[in-house]
Amino acid sequence: MTNDPTLAQPLCGARQPGWEHGPAIGRHRQPCILPAGHDDRHRDGLGQTWRPRTATVRTVDHGPVTVPCPPWCLGVHEDGLDLVDLAHEGPETALTVDTPLGGVQLLDAGLCQYPYSSNPDDREVKVAVLLGADWHQLDHDELRMLAAQLVVHAGRLRDLAAELRSVEGAL
Ligand SMILES: [Zn+2]
Ligand SMILES: [Zn+2]
Repeated sequence: MTNDPTLAQPLCGARQPGWEHGPAIGRHRQPCILPAGHDDRHRDGLGQTWRPRTATVRTVDHGPVTVPCPPWCLGVHEDGLDLVDLAHEGPETALTVDTPLGGVQLLDAGLCQYPYSSNPDDREVKVAVLLGADWHQLDHDELRMLAAQLVVHAGRLRDLAAELRSVEGAL
């Protein structure tokens, strides 16, 4: 047991630009050991420091704005929006269903954050999920609820498949 208070906090975990991927082996891939959300430079366990990755975005209302990007952000930002609509976005994942007409993509989802949103709730990191025609920002509990509902729905689809088989057999 240790009373080191830093162990109780989530760590930043950012890695040096260009070395974000792959296992954390080698001196360039060591993650930042400072508390999550820290200011200034990242620092790893070997004492190496580096500047946070930033992006410069051209906003309509504030002109060019340079923002620090979280480690998961792809670094692609849309120009020509208001600052409140500036979003960090991570890689997306989706469910692709094979149909006779080709693949259909459902439930696109990825990390996202609106750091300057007028709604403080949206300044938190969430997962954006495409539900129907609209993107919804879900927090941890909401995303787990969605996953649980999908499991229930998968069961209903299996029941329908069984019903289909019994109907086919009755023909
Ligand atoms: Zn850091
Ligand atoms: Zn970003």
